[in-house]
Amino acid sequence: MTLVYQSTRNEKNKVTASQAILQGLATDGGLFTPVDFPDVNLDFDRLKSASYQEVAKLVLSAFLDDFTEEELDFCIDNAYDAKFDTPVIAPLVKLGDQYHLELFHGSTIAFKDMALSILPYLLTTAAKKQGVDDKIVILTATSGDTGKAAMAGFADVAGTEIIVFYPNGGVSKIQELQMTTQVGDNTHVVAIEGNFDDAQTKVKEMFNDESLRQKLAAKGAQFSSANSMNIGRLVPQIVYYIYAYAQLLNDGQLEKGEKINITVPTGNFGNILAAYYAKQIGLPVHKLICASNENNVLTDFFATGFYDKKRRFKVTSSPSMDILVSSNLERLIFHLVGNDSAKTRELMTALVDKGEYQLSAVNPDILDFFEAGFATEGETSAEIKRLYDDLSYIEDPHTAVASAVYRAYRDRTGDQTKTIIASTASPYKFPRVAVEAVKGKDSGDDFAAVQELHDLSGVAIPKAVKGLETAPIRHRKVVEVAAMQEAVESYLDV
Ligand SMILES: *Cc1c(COP(=O)(O)O)cnc(C)c1O
Repeated sequence: MTLVYQSTRNEKNKVTASQAILQGLATDGGLFTPVDFPDVNLDFDRLKSASYQEVAKLVLSAFLDDFTEEELDFCIDNAYDAKFDTPVIAPLVKLGDQYHLELFHGSTIAFKDMALSILPYLLTTAAKKQGVDDKIVILTATSGDTGKAAMAGFADVAGTEIIVFYPNGGVSKIQELQMTTQVGDNTHVVAIEGNFDDAQTKVKEMFNDESLRQKLAAKGAQFSSANSMNIGRLVPQIVYYIYAYAQLLNDGQLEKGEKINITVPTGNFGNILAAYYAKQIGLPVHKLICASNENNVLTDFFATGFYDKKRRFKVTSSPSMDILVSSNLERLIFHLVGNDSAKTRELMTALVDKGEYQLSAVNPDILDFFEAGFATEGETSAEIKRLYDDLSYIEDPHTAVASAVYRAYRDRTGDQTKTIIASTASPYKFPRVAVEAVKGKDSGDDFAAVQELHDLSGVAIPKAVKGLETAPIRHRKVVEVAAMQEAVESYLDV
């Protein structure tokens, strides 16, 4: 039987996996979400010795069940190859009493690579399956990491065009240069005079704009999304949680069946939702810990069931988590209210109209499974320093938020369950923050900080950073939020 993906806002809008990937976002504004989870045989005796690609095959064939085996092999083999700087793809590092799952060994040194190195293959394969020969236009809002990882995946892929919007001044220097130096004739980068939420809201509006859709169709083009709203982003992220558990077993760190906690530094709620889906197919998980920075709307939400985005947006040292409207939370809400699309639509409408909603009558089993906390800028920087002083390991600020929130949780609850920290970026992506935390002094310049970071940690400078200083800038466009659509129309000539 083929797995059904249903829009969170309309129970009649049901599609298969490849249709969901191709559309990206449901046209009713909802997100395609599995209603029933597939049966996956998580035989860890066997998985213990499986490669990353083999675990990917197991998970993807269950969730993307209208793809053939050959199609999935093609996608997986092209995605998880020598672009990653280690054959294990996602190494697990024991640091004192916590385990860091390093998800930053791909080409742009952030965890977005884990899914975005496969998404272009999934998307073009899905288009072929559906007999679609339209040009696929990827429209993406980024808080810093998705944009680069998506362009790295889609650059010069035939039949695609990619347009990325990022908040001007809202990303690190390295992140900005990674994007503005992007090569590929089909890539377009635009800085906007606004924050990530502004960019994301406008992108969603363009997706749902029927007249724009028709203009595109007349030109033989259609939109899709590389944001984590696309199920093709989410499913590949389930893989590494299963893989990490298998590594822990293989290493003798866990007893068979022993439960783990997973702490995830959270922005759009995609990475942690993938961990939740891993649990739904049988991964032994005790708690999922949702870690936020000072934009702590999710911490409040998990404490009270009240979502309130009406608060000051803060620019922090972990910019990829500077988000007040976490898109993927909509999928969890849908599950929390018993897969009720009318109720979900009502809540999401309230969020747009009033900036808030109150959950009631939710499934307590799902809610209790989540813990949440946030780390201040000071706590984040202290955590980077602590780990360096104790173990000579330097975390990036996003990972440090997770690690600080985890330690506070453990101190508060006494929960001794072994815990994986999703390590979402290399410190080389945020070198000034990392060096300042360790040395107590700002390097003044990102590239000076890169060298200092190397001297402190001894970790090789990644390819993604070398050469950035001298690479030619190819994208310089800056627009007001109101002019985003105009930019899109001019790139696409519609
Ligand atoms: C995107 C990102 C996050 C947040 O992940 P979500 O799936 O949006 O919750 C955390 N850390 C880094 C480094 C990121 O790039």
